[in-house]
Amino acid sequence: MRLILLGPPGAGKGTQALRLVAKYGLVQLSTGDMLRAAVKAGTPIGRKVKDIMEHGGLCPDDIVVSIVAERIEQPDARKGFILDGFPRTIPQAVALDRMLERNGRRVEVVVPLNVPEDALAERVRRRAPEGRPDDTPDAFVKRMHVYRTETAPVLDYYRSKGTCIAEVDGVGGVDTVTERIADALKAGQAS
Ligand code: ADP
Repeated sequence: MRLILLGPPGAGKGTQALRLVAKYGLVQLSTGDMLRAAVKAGTPIGRKVKDIMEHGGLCPDDIVVSIVAERIEQPDARKGFILDGFPRTIPQAVALDRMLERNGRRVEVVVPLNVPEDALAERVRRRAPEGRPDDTPDAFVKRMHVYRTETAPVLDYYRSKGTCIAEVDGVGGVDTVTERIADALKAGQAS
């Protein structure tokens, strides 16, 4: 299964992706995690994106696309994957389609995790002490803006292509949301 978890900052994409990894034996590809690792290791890419990430901006498409392109060709990702935090722009979605099509693959299902904005702000406020530099109020406002203008259109892109979309209510306990995703995936496969 090749699945995309799509949602605003703080919607729980990372948390749910980990649950789905355990449940379905897929690999999780989180561009946020990969970029944070590059920053931590001080690689050339990491040095380039550090400031952008801290301020809640989007890293350049070419950088992110090349990271994903390399990762999805690795043997463990051949059977399927969950993309979490990618694609975040239409050009990224188009690039992903191209790289998958080369091997006759495609995105099978997109799972939008829906959480209202006031709940997101509250979640990010609560996890701020955990130390992510982009969980400050200013960076959060910026990430929300980027989500609305750049990332939300990605859903319309998949909708217009006729990709299966399995909407999920992301408000509730972590287990409840995981169950909703599992149900939405089952319903999606049946239809
Ligand atoms: P969240 O969804 O909570 O904002 P992520 O861990 O997915 O957190 O992303 C953190 C930051 O990493 C983003 O604000 C952005 O700067 C960068 N980033 C992650 N994925 C992408 C991407 N696909 N394109 C551009 N920038 C990205």
